[in-house]
Formats: sequence, C-alpha cells, structure tokens
Amino acid sequence: MNSKSKVLLIYTGGTIGMVQDIHSGDLKPFDFNQLFYHIPELKRLDVSIDIHTFDPIDSSNVSIDLWVSLVQLIYEKYNHYDGFVILHGTDTIAYTASALSFMLDGLNKPVILTGSQLPIGVLRTDGKENIITSIQIAADKDNDGKSMVQEVAIYFEYKLFRGNRSIKYSANHFNAIQSPNYPPLAEAGIEIEYNKNALWRPSSTNLSIHTTLNTDIAVLHLFPGINFETIQKQFSNQDLKALIIRTYGAGNAPTNKVFLNWLKTLINEGIIVLDVTQCLQGSVDLGKYETSRYLKEMGVISAKDMSFEASITKLMYLLGKEKDINVIKLLLGKNLRGELSE
Ligand code: ASP
Repeated sequence: MNSKSKVLLIYTGGTIGMVQDIHSGDLKPFDFNQLFYHIPELKRLDVSIDIHTFDPIDSSNVSIDLWVSLVQLIYEKYNHYDGFVILHGTDTIAYTASALSFMLDGLNKPVILTGSQLPIGVLRTDGKENIITSIQIAADKDNDGKSMVQEVAIYFEYKLFRGNRSIKYSANHFNAIQSPNYPPLAEAGIEIEYNKNALWRPSSTNLSIHTTLNTDIAVLHLFPGINFETIQKQFSNQDLKALIIRTYGAGNAPTNKVFLNWLKTLINEGIIVLDVTQCLQGSVDLGKYETSRYLKEMGVISAKDMSFEASITKLMYLLGKEKDINVIKLLLGKNLRGELSE
C-alpha cells in the first residue's frame, strides 16, 4: 500500500529541455537521459521515475501523430505507473492537454503536462520547480490509495489547472498558463493544497483511447470591416465538416445578410457551425442580444464557456468518433471531461 509511487516522465521537447551552449550562447536540446545530472534534487523525491523521450520538437510542430503516440504510450504503460508527467513546449501545451483529455476516456490516474519559460540549463529557470512538483502531483494519493488527480492537467508556476480549461496567457512571464473559466485544481505553497471540489472524477474508470481525429475544421475570426464576400470564397471547401466562428462578447456577430445567409447555407449542407467567443473569460449566451439571436435560430451551436483550444480539439474528437451530426451537435454542448459548465 505504501510502496513508492511510480511515475513515467515523458519528454516531447520545448524550452524546458534546453541548455545554453557556453560558447555560442545558443539554446539546444540536452540529452534527456542526463536529467538527473541537471536536476539532482529529483533523486530526493520518494518516487520511482522512468523516462521516455520522443525526438524533441518545438511545440509549434506538434501534430496529431504526437497526440496519438502519447495516448498509445499512456495506454500501454497504464498499469505499470501511478501517474504520467509530460514535458512539453508551452506554445501549444493547452491544445495537447485538451486533446488528450478527450482521447483518454475513463482516466483515473494523473496525466500532468508541464514546461517552462526558461530552459533547465539557465540559472533562473522555472523548469526545475515545475518538473519536481508535477512529479509529486502525479505520485500523490488520497487516504484510500487512489490518485488525487484523475484527469489531464497542466502544472505551471505553483498552480495546477484543468488541461482543457487552460490557455497560454503570457509569452514572457513565468505564469504563462492560466485557466480563466475554472479555478485551479491545486496550489503549491509549503504544501500542495488540492481544491477537492474542483477535481474531476470519471464516471467510468475503464481506460479506453480514441485515436481517430478529424481536422476538416475551419476557423473564422470576426473583426469589424470583415468582407464576407471574400470570406465565402476563402472558405468554400468540399471537405469542410465544421466551422468555428470566433465571435464578440457573449457570442455576438454582425447581422450582415451575406454573412447570415452563408451560415444558413453551410448549416443546411450539414456543416456544424460552432460559436466560440473571442473573450478569454465568460460564456457564449446565444439569444441574449439580437446579434446572436439569428445565429441561435438558424442552428449555430454554442461553445458556452469552452476555451478555443478545448472547442477545436473536442470537435476533432467528436468528428472522428461519431457519424451522426445530431449526436455531435448534442455532445458539443455536454460536459464530457470538465471542459464546460452546463
Ligand atoms: N517555443 C517553445 C515551445 O513551445 C516555447 C516553450 O517551450 O515555452 O516549444
């Protein structure tokens, strides 16, 4: 019962795994198998750590293939480890965390993603604390021996966030990741304090994975002055399955006839139109203003308070998994992994 927890540390790349070349000053990936040399403190953790490395990439190059490899690896190793920590570049960490949350169904162990703003090999790095505390969280159990965290989460700068609620907020501050629509799952001070009411508990604890994602999705970011004639031409694609419109405020959009008629045509052709607000905080509320009532009436779907990252990866997941468009539309508005407030 009290045997050491086992954590698999998975390295995918990003700033965290870099050191500065003493001669040129350039940042370059270090040999991750030498992690204990760079963070000797890891040896003092009462956790047994194994390392799995992928070819290090900048997270701008993250692909669906990497997400599939990650969920397959976690699935294969699931019974051998108490938790998983994924080291990942911060630029797209929120997309990966959101995607994994949907691809891993029935997860009851922690999958903690982390990264850093400064490389491990730089004196003022934030990476060491991020890795050490992530491993501790991935190993933590409650009094019944169950994992404290049973979901995909991101640990950054003393806070643990739900993965599919997170966004990259700052390009240069240490608090790079935030979760504007959901409270932190834990805060690391002298102790790691879990916000027990905020933690996700899966309804089924039989892990299954979904590895077919459909990316036939387009995104239209609205702005005053947008030319809808041009937009229609740009978005005429036979393979399109879903269009995300990034709207204003509570889901509002221009009442321009060309735009509304175009959306109606798309919906009649069986394309899903999902309304995701440009605001980082708050929710889409279709019908609150006249400028969203038309959207609601024609069958545009509300993303509610889902982040853009969660909305697009949820669409990829549902389009890959479900055939019936009405089921997809229904599930988009349901809380599947804690990604939205119903
Ligand atoms: N460009 C880097 C990446 O996302 C930035 C980082 O790791 O913070 O891979």
